[in-house]
Amino acid sequence: HATEGPGGGVIQGSASEAVLVAVLAAREQAVVKYRELHPELSESEIRGKLIAYSSDQSNSCIEKAGVIAAMPIKLLPAGEDLILRGGALKKAIEEDVQEGRIPVICIATLGTTGTCAYDDIESLATVCEDHNVWLHVDAAYAGGAFALDECADLRRGIDRVDSLNFNLHKFMLVNFDCSAMWLKDANKVVDSFNVDRIYLKHKYEGQSQIPDFRHWQIPLGRRFRALKVWITFRTLGAEGLRAHVRKHISLAEQFEKLVKDDKRFELVAPRALGLVCFRPKGDNEITAQLLQ
Ligand code: PLP
Repeated sequence: HATEGPGGGVIQGSASEAVLVAVLAAREQAVVKYRELHPELSESEIRGKLIAYSSDQSNSCIEKAGVIAAMPIKLLPAGEDLILRGGALKKAIEEDVQEGRIPVICIATLGTTGTCAYDDIESLATVCEDHNVWLHVDAAYAGGAFALDECADLRRGIDRVDSLNFNLHKFMLVNFDCSAMWLKDANKVVDSFNVDRIYLKHKYEGQSQIPDFRHWQIPLGRRFRALKVWITFRTLGAEGLRAHVRKHISLAEQFEKLVKDDKRFELVAPRALGLVCFRPKGDNEITAQLLQ
């Protein structure tokens, strides 16, 4: 948070909730904007045209957010390297606009669940900016590595996204559940979710330095998750947390070396942070047995 500017952060319970909040806020913003542009259309006609995008490698919670938000999410084909790029998004948006649909949001992933692939945020941001589409980044796992200078590449394009989430309950040693969410313009969420009642009034209302988090989330009440974040950070310090993430990465590097040196196994994707995807050579049946 800063006292100036509309940006802000909020702790949600899970990545799924953060993604849902972004999807719902983007949806409501799109409806308001489109109603102004096309007063001849009814609200339900507009809602029926909304469409969202993500990659076919994104986490199941993205598709689920689409189900809850009643907005179809197209899972676009990632490249052979399992990365989603602007080209695929541009093609899909142009086809949809041609067919009268209204593109609302693209959810990119930094660190996919399957292989920890990083979608190309810069090229996606360019397409989103051109088409007035909200760009959310789900960095549930990899976001913890934003703390490392040697992972600065991961942050490329992050200044151009509308919202971002990462799980402190993954790399950052905070107990489950704890997902940090940032918004470039928090008013877009607050305006979408602001439902008042007389019994919710308080004397600090409208003071931008004192965010009223009930407008930033699904539930009305909140857990005091900031306390466990504070305790973890105070106990370990920034260097302690960085050392922890680096340890994960170095263990994965050691494991990757073991896999490479063993002729029974092969890597199926490049190692990324603490994730090594490998399989026994030969039939899939052997992999299934090993997994079992
Ligand atoms: N996004 C990604 C990339 C994930 O890997 C996961 C879970 O592993 C999630 C979202 C879902 O996280 P949560 O359980 O916090 O909703």
